[in-house]
Amino acid sequence: MQNHQATPALLKGKGLPNYKEISPEEVNSQIPKLLKSLQKELATLETNLENTLNKDEPLKWDEVMNPLYQMGEKLRWSWGVISHLNGVCNSPELRNAYSAQQPEIVRFGNKLGQSKVIYNSLLKLKDSFSDTLDETQLRILEAELLSMKHRGVGLDAAQKNVFNANSEKLAELSNKFSNNVLDATSAWSLLLTDPSDVEGLPERVLSNLALNAKSAGDTSLGSDSLPPTKEKGPWRIGLDMPSYIPVITYSKNRHLREVIYKAHVSRASDGKLSNKSTIEEILLLRKEQSHLLGYKNWAEVSLASKMAKEISNVEKLLEELRSAAKPVAEKELEELQQCAYRHGDSDDNNLAPWDISFWSEKLRQEKFDLDQEKLRPWFPLPQVLNGLFSLCEKLFDIKIRPALEEGIPKWHQDVEFFRVFDQNNIEIASFYLDPYSRTGSKRGGAWMDECLIRSRADNGAMVLPVAYLVCNQTPPTENTPSLMSFEEVETLFHEFGHGLQHMLTTVNYPQAAGINNVEWDAVELPSQFMENWCLDRSTMNGIAKHWETGEQLPEKEFEKLCLSRTFNSGMATLRQIHFALADIRLHSQWDESLGITPDELRRKIAETTTVINPIKEDQFLCAFSHIFAGGYSAGYYSYKWSEVLSADAYSAFEEAGLEEKEIKSTGKRFRDTVLSLGGSRSPSEVFVSFRGRAPSTKALIRHLGLLHSS
Ligand code: ZN
Repeated sequence: MQNHQATPALLKGKGLPNYKEISPEEVNSQIPKLLKSLQKELATLETNLENTLNKDEPLKWDEVMNPLYQMGEKLRWSWGVISHLNGVCNSPELRNAYSAQQPEIVRFGNKLGQSKVIYNSLLKLKDSFSDTLDETQLRILEAELLSMKHRGVGLDAAQKNVFNANSEKLAELSNKFSNNVLDATSAWSLLLTDPSDVEGLPERVLSNLALNAKSAGDTSLGSDSLPPTKEKGPWRIGLDMPSYIPVITYSKNRHLREVIYKAHVSRASDGKLSNKSTIEEILLLRKEQSHLLGYKNWAEVSLASKMAKEISNVEKLLEELRSAAKPVAEKELEELQQCAYRHGDSDDNNLAPWDISFWSEKLRQEKFDLDQEKLRPWFPLPQVLNGLFSLCEKLFDIKIRPALEEGIPKWHQDVEFFRVFDQNNIEIASFYLDPYSRTGSKRGGAWMDECLIRSRADNGAMVLPVAYLVCNQTPPTENTPSLMSFEEVETLFHEFGHGLQHMLTTVNYPQAAGINNVEWDAVELPSQFMENWCLDRSTMNGIAKHWETGEQLPEKEFEKLCLSRTFNSGMATLRQIHFALADIRLHSQWDESLGITPDELRRKIAETTTVINPIKEDQFLCAFSHIFAGGYSAGYYSYKWSEVLSADAYSAFEEAGLEEKEIKSTGKRFRDTVLSLGGSRSPSEVFVSFRGRAPSTKALIRHLGLLHSS
């Protein structure tokens, strides 16, 4: 007889998931059941709330927020496991099950987020109890109200129709925008037959380009029509990054660089695939949406839920960085020019945009030839983890130990499980580490995700946070441990920073625990903060030891790593500021009444944010997918914003010096504020309570080497 009592692994809803028991079939059979029962719960909740609202009785937190959270958590737990497995143990069956169920998941989320009854109940809750709710509760409530408001829940029927139609249209336009970029990128390619065209390109690239030619059906010239080879060609280049970057960086053929550069910067700006009118349509529709929601422009909508709050704050921060970076960038350009002259470029030959990458690479090799591959033996994973854990022990007074007991559910044999203990040896959190790349079944990149969120269970017991830390680094071989590149080390530190915020939270409301409810432009603070330690010599001493000889990373190599951080950082910073300003101004200043096109507005911005003016073919906006097809609209500045926060936070440790006591007290303060308070306070307040003052751009400017002695 079947046991009808047993809960399927996918619907357990608490504790560590039993990964191995979750199959694609179960996804397809259990998720619809889960959604059905959640629909029912939602309907019941809405009826109950409506009754209370009609009776005009006050609403309590437990009556609204708890059932809402529990519904969301059931969905998050189950769907979270599936998304996780989809990322780390992919198979065609699982992928199909995932995409089959996803639309319904999204639909349910929308229904929840657009429920008028819930919205009114939250408003009522805020009205009735605003003086008895604590600060965290108020922040959770306000964030929820704002997110619902931005979904259009507060609009009347007529407005709502327009709003929803616009939203659909915007989704369509974003899709069109990104398809045009993709199509325009793949529509262009060029067959190279003369070996002098590819002089300077690394071998690895040549074999890829020969492969490209082969799959396009190209053969060698002449009567023998031989298949392409990396030595003899022909080679086919395109505008995709693996082809574009090496050609623009290494090709000694200046004319070829010019051709590919012009093709690249003019993508999707002409003919059938042109995004020019799409850009205007998107901007105008976003403006209309912002008016419907009661804002002046789209940038205001975006900033309403961010730490920066006001456009003027974004502009101010960017301007501080810009004015520091500009003169440095000009000097860097001059240095590149001199480098070109040294290597025989004629004197009247001014550098063009397609020369920058090429001469940068030359100069970089001249100044410090950092070969990341050669450094790997100094970064074996076990040693790197030791160093990372002892850094955390020193800074935050925690201990991290691998869990060696049997029976901890895992999804792959390479996965490790660690427990985190406080100074009194009491367990406070744990995490999974899935370090190695697995071609074919594991998504690329690295990320931190939530397995369990700190909260109080129904029986009053504390649920401790559990994090997923997923990297894609080089696997070990039979004879060697995983030998990491420096970049892989930085990535691990980065994700671990997110993990620390998730695990060291002391917030008991799960809606604001860890990374939850942290403003988007502040969420990279702990992660980038941790990255900074990779260039700290004493931390590095603990990490970088040759896996065979135990020898420390030579000083010379460490210096190269430090140099590579500031190399051409003036130009790199300026470029990011150019993008960020274009984004924020297009979304705050531009509309048809301005009398100029978005491109013209961008060119005005370029006057102060580039060292070589964009050429006329440069239609960069037509391929700026981050803001027109991704989630970064009026938010691109966040990259720089959070870098400023993390550099400034790190500088508190630099100021503390090497004194153990000072480091410990600064570390404790960081733990008690940034890592512990998460989304329970405004990020500005959290920052001030750590740093004793508002954030300053000074530390980042110094770290990037942008301080100039006039
Ligand atoms: Zn991150």
